Amino acid sequence: MVDLDKIISLCKRRGFIFQGSEQYGGLQGTWDYGPLGVELKNNVKRAWWRKTVYERDDMEGVDTSVLLNRLVLKYSGHEETFSDPMVDCRKCKKRFRADQVDANEKCPEGDKHDLTEPRPFNLMFKTTYGPVADENNIAYLRPETAQGIFINFKNVLDSTNRKVPFGIAQIGKSYRNEITPRNFIFRVREFEQMEIEFFVKDGTDEEWHKKWIEERFNWYINLGIRPENLRKHVQTKEELAHYAKATTDILYRFFPEREEEAKQFDEVEGVANRGNFDLTCHTKGGKLVLADGREIPNVHATTKLTYFDHETNQHILPNVVEPSAGVDRATLAFLMDSYHEETVNDDQRIVLKLHPELAPIKVAVLPLKKNNEGIKKTAAKIKNELMKNGWRTVYDDTAGIGKLYRRQDEIGTPFCITVDFDTLENNTVTVRDRDTMAQERVAIDNLKDYLSEKLGNC
Ligand code: ATP
Repeated sequence: MVDLDKIISLCKRRGFIFQGSEQYGGLQGTWDYGPLGVELKNNVKRAWWRKTVYERDDMEGVDTSVLLNRLVLKYSGHEETFSDPMVDCRKCKKRFRADQVDANEKCPEGDKHDLTEPRPFNLMFKTTYGPVADENNIAYLRPETAQGIFINFKNVLDSTNRKVPFGIAQIGKSYRNEITPRNFIFRVREFEQMEIEFFVKDGTDEEWHKKWIEERFNWYINLGIRPENLRKHVQTKEELAHYAKATTDILYRFFPEREEEAKQFDEVEGVANRGNFDLTCHTKGGKLVLADGREIPNVHATTKLTYFDHETNQHILPNVVEPSAGVDRATLAFLMDSYHEETVNDDQRIVLKLHPELAPIKVAVLPLKKNNEGIKKTAAKIKNELMKNGWRTVYDDTAGIGKLYRRQDEIGTPFCITVDFDTLENNTVTVRDRDTMAQERVAIDNLKDYLSEKLGNC
């Protein structure tokens, strides 16, 4: 299996992903998506939205603000508890996440690190809003998209007449001041999440939790991740957040180079059964219950976030099942899983066998001869026609055909169409399949149907 270094190099070389602020030496924990990266990432998000919103009858979408009133994160518990344990080395003055540094590791200042006791470090990015920057106008960049969903629960309920069970989905940026961002886009300070808060009645939560674990696990498999590279991890009591009844993480083999197999896997998504913790925190007159048992009454919320259950004639605070995925981690998993190196006629070919729905470019139209006007014109015309079907289609005449195929293989384009001298005679083209490299002669008039069948949902 490919390791991260090869993926990083391909991403830079072919314009998927670049270091953030590279022009000025970079900004740690930030990455910029380039021309192909933005297409791939958009396709990941679109595939998720299609599956979780469009193809279900019990889901609505929202797009809420990144900037949040401080009170949202006070009553969600993030101000008090959204922290990681941090240690400092007294010798080299470097700071580490306590669970990510080995005390026996060599210190650049000689011998081993001399580490302090762990202290909590809050991961939220704080800012101020308005022209005066003081304590009275602090806001936070959201550390997860979920809170925007909870505080809009009643708005969505009232404006859609939804009945529980139903869910609210959101895709958007989140910000965490990670102590040690690392491993490319795996752990960064600015990232995107795809989150669902699914509201259910008490007593049905465990069943819904199970359903969502399966649903989300299968989403990755159906988009081409090999089952052996995906795992479920049921969080132990010690790992579980105090408010969660149960959480199952979906893990991908992000680190195949690690010797111990269990350590090769890390989280791409968490699916939590959160009880009614969140709505209890934010509802008018509700309270935040902390892990140590302390209770913080909510004296600021303006609305009750309850649902009127016609079956029992009672106002209830629904339970929540939360599948929470990282867009960047999912994108990385798709890149890693699709990467193949093959030998073809003594030549090395790198190919991304991406699911067609995820492929940044669906079709490349290539003239066999770049100095023949008739061939070039026909190819350009085919490109323009195919574009009308909503497929990202490109035209390229900047190299010989062999090289053009390799270029498209390396970025995962499922189909290349070659226009040659025969095309001018009989209106047929060659369609080449990325994975099998098999070539088929297809009439130009049939191209749309031929590709529609193969590209499916694209
Ligand atoms: P970790 O334990 O790896 O820090 P987490 O359990 O804190 O992750 P959640 O709060 O459950 O993560 O967030 C849901 C998803 O958001 C994660 O499964 C991951 O895909 C993504 N995510 C969280 N933090 C980051 C980050 N710093 N960089 C990239 N993606 C992230």
